[in-house]
Amino acid sequence: MNLENQLEELKVLLVKENTDRAKRVITQLNEISDAKKNRVTHVTSTDEAFACLEVDNYSLLFLDLSLPDNSALDLITLIQKTAPSIPIIVLSTWENEALCNTAIQKGAQDYLIKGEISKPLLSRAIHHSIERKKQLLSLSLQIDNLQAFAKAASHDLKAPLGNIKMISEIVIEEAGDHMESSVREMLHSLPVIAGRLKKLIDDLLQFSMLGQEGLEPDHISLNTAIQAACELLEMQIQNQKATINIGHLDEVYADPDLMMTVFQNLVGNACKYVKDVAPIISISTKNEDQFVTVMIQDNGIGIPEKEQQRIFNPLIRAVNTCDYEGTGLGLAMVKKIIEAHYGKIWVESSPGNGSTFFFTLPKLNPQTIHDSKDQQNFNQISLLD
Ligand code: ADP
Repeated sequence: MNLENQLEELKVLLVKENTDRAKRVITQLNEISDAKKNRVTHVTSTDEAFACLEVDNYSLLFLDLSLPDNSALDLITLIQKTAPSIPIIVLSTWENEALCNTAIQKGAQDYLIKGEISKPLLSRAIHHSIERKKQLLSLSLQIDNLQAFAKAASHDLKAPLGNIKMISEIVIEEAGDHMESSVREMLHSLPVIAGRLKKLIDDLLQFSMLGQEGLEPDHISLNTAIQAACELLEMQIQNQKATINIGHLDEVYADPDLMMTVFQNLVGNACKYVKDVAPIISISTKNEDQFVTVMIQDNGIGIPEKEQQRIFNPLIRAVNTCDYEGTGLGLAMVKKIIEAHYGKIWVESSPGNGSTFFFTLPKLNPQTIHDSKDQQNFNQISLLD
C-alpha cells in the first residue's frame, strides 16, 4: 500500500488529556489526508483507551506521554499483549525525551515533539511506524515458526535414541553370552552415547528458546536464586562433598528464573571441573555505581588463558576438560542471559589455581532511568564496555 492510501485509510485512537491540544492534532491529521475518510477517536485517559481498544480495531495509536502516573507507559506495555499489531506514536516535549526513549523500548514505534509537528514530519512518522510494526510482526512470526521447527526437530531426533537404548539392551540380554567381550562392551556403551546425544539436543533446544518468552525482571534477592539453583544441584553437591560459601548478596533487577539458570550452570561447572579435591565455591557480590558485580570463585582445574574468551561461545570446550562430560552450551546460555540484562560476563583463571567467574547485573530497572545523562552512562557501561 502506498503512502497516500495508508494515510487515507487511517483509523486513529488519540489519547490526550488536554482537549484543545487534541483538536490541534486532529486538525493536523486531517490536513495530511482526506478528512472524510480519516477517522480519529479522541479519549482523555488510559481507561477510556482500554475500553475503545476492547471493542474496536485501530490502525494507529497517538499517545501523549504526559498522562498522570506514567499510565501512558503502562498502556504501551498492555497493548503489546492485548493488541500487538497497533503501531504507537508517542507525543512529548524535548525535556522528556528520555521518557520517549523508554516508550520506544517498551514497544512504541516513534515519537513526536509537541509544538514541532509539521505536515511532512507527521506523514513520515505515521508511514515509518506502520512499516516498522509490519516488519516486527513478520519477524515475530518467523521466530514462532523457527521455534516450532526446533521443537519438532528436537522431538524427532530424540525418538530414535530411545530405540537405540532399548535395542542394545535386548541384544545384550539375548545374545550377550555368545559375544566377544569387546563387542559386548561396545554394545554397553551405546546407551551412554545415546544419553549424551539426548543431553546435547535438550541443551541446544534450551539455548535456542532462551529469552523468547521475554524477560520478566524484578527487584530480586540473588540469595533466593542461588538457593533454588543449589536445590537442583543437590545430588552433585552431595556426591562431590562440595562446600558452597554464600555471603549476603546485593539485590539486583533481574529475571528470577533466568538467574537460577545462571547459577545452576556456573555452580554446576565449579563443582564439576575439579581434580582430586572436594570443590570449595565462594559466591559474593560487589556493589558498584549502577551495577552489582557477582563473583563465583572455585578451587578447580582452572582455564588456560587462550580459552578464557572462547568458552562463552556455543559448543566450545576448553582443551583441558575433554575427560569431563559436557556439551559446551552452558556458558553460552549464561552469557546470553546476562547480556539480555545489559550486563557482561568474564572469567579470571589460571590452570591449577581455580577460576573466578564475574558478571554484572543492573541494580535498577534500566527503563526507569529517565535522566538522559544517567541513561547514557548506563548504556555505555552495559553495552560498549
Ligand atoms: P560444558 O560444561 O557443558 O562443557 P559450558 O559452556 O558450561 O559447557 O562450559 C564451557 C567450557 O568452559 C567447559 O567445557 C570447560 O572447558 C570450561 N569451564 C567452564 N567452567 C569451568 C570451571 N569452573 N573451571 C574450569 N573450566 C570451566
